Amino acid sequence: MEVASISCADYEINKLKRKMENSLSLIGGVEDFVDSSDTVLLKPNLLSPKPPDSGIITNPNVVKSAIEIFQGRAAEVLVGESSGGVSGEFDSSLTDRGFQESGLEEVCSETEAYLINFDRIECELISVSQGVGEDIPVPKPVLDADIVVSLPKLKTHAFTLFTGAIKNLYGCIPGMKKREYHKLYPNPKRFAEVIVDILQIIKPDLSIMDGVEGLHGNGPGEKGKKFHMGVVMASSDLVALDTVAAGYLGFGDEDIPISKIAGDRDLGVNNSDKIEILGDFDEPDEEFELPSGSFLRILPNWILEPISASLKAKPKINSDNCALCEICLESCPQDAIYSDSGTARINIDDCIKCLCCHELCPKGAVEIEENPVFRFFSDLVS
Ligand code: SF4
Ligand code: SF4
Repeated sequence: MEVASISCADYEINKLKRKMENSLSLIGGVEDFVDSSDTVLLKPNLLSPKPPDSGIITNPNVVKSAIEIFQGRAAEVLVGESSGGVSGEFDSSLTDRGFQESGLEEVCSETEAYLINFDRIECELISVSQGVGEDIPVPKPVLDADIVVSLPKLKTHAFTLFTGAIKNLYGCIPGMKKREYHKLYPNPKRFAEVIVDILQIIKPDLSIMDGVEGLHGNGPGEKGKKFHMGVVMASSDLVALDTVAAGYLGFGDEDIPISKIAGDRDLGVNNSDKIEILGDFDEPDEEFELPSGSFLRILPNWILEPISASLKAKPKINSDNCALCEICLESCPQDAIYSDSGTARINIDDCIKCLCCHELCPKGAVEIEENPVFRFFSDLVS
């Protein structure tokens, strides 16, 4: 399986588009994937309302370049997303704010690509027999598109360890449903099964990854540390793409539960020996900081299941930074967060440590408190 990995220093639009075209030509050329009658759906990562330079979201120039590349060859290009979390009376409002703050709304208006808020769209319920058995709501435009392209950001993730082409597909699921799955599957390896179910249902044709800037440490939100890697990557195999990208951060082939499960289900290649990396980008020498939960990756599920709740990092709200925006209150799958004396607080007895609050807090007010035993072993294996 081939993964293109092309160096790209910044987001200057002309250069970026050329680099993205180069990456696609290395894996067969865009014409290999698209016919003139096709509808192409692009799925960027807009975790939460963030500006383009946050390192948290797919840069809007990556989306703009992708729109222009596909508009030259397909009948129609759509862009769709449902951000993480929920806010206020309307589930869809965070996604709308994300469209505005990221610059995506402007990009779609300039290019006349149709922008879809997946929180407000008709879905079809689909399940896969190998997975968790849930009826998963998938937006009709995703199912109806001839070509689906995942446009992820290269980041670590405090709960799933890594987020790339596959995890990005979780944003196809409408807001409230995402919250429910966190509640139903608090064990990271079980949660990974849900993500792989979504991969198996959607089966994207292609992914182009924004690795020019990304996050390490406790990503994927405000608490992650921004890095500059200077790479754009592309592959028709999302598992292979994520395996290579996670490898750049220091993860091994078997470390990321999502990629491992997807590989086991034959949805792609998660074995580096079977992946050919094409392009001019050299593997970074830099040592990246892995998320706190990375120690748990070495444990089998039968050990992880009973002890993970006590070993896992806990969220802790720093009231000095909390603006009481209530995003975490609305998004917590356990309703474990409440407001008190001008700040959000967590009822830790109800918390399942999904870290959604940490991921979504726009102020970086939700910190991660590590179990000291956990930290000791984490340092030992990293
Ligand atoms: S902790 Fe963050 S998300 Fe929660 S209310 Fe405070 S500022 Fe908002
Ligand atoms: S308090 Fe935070 S970590 Fe705990 S269940 Fe709620 S969202 Fe998840």
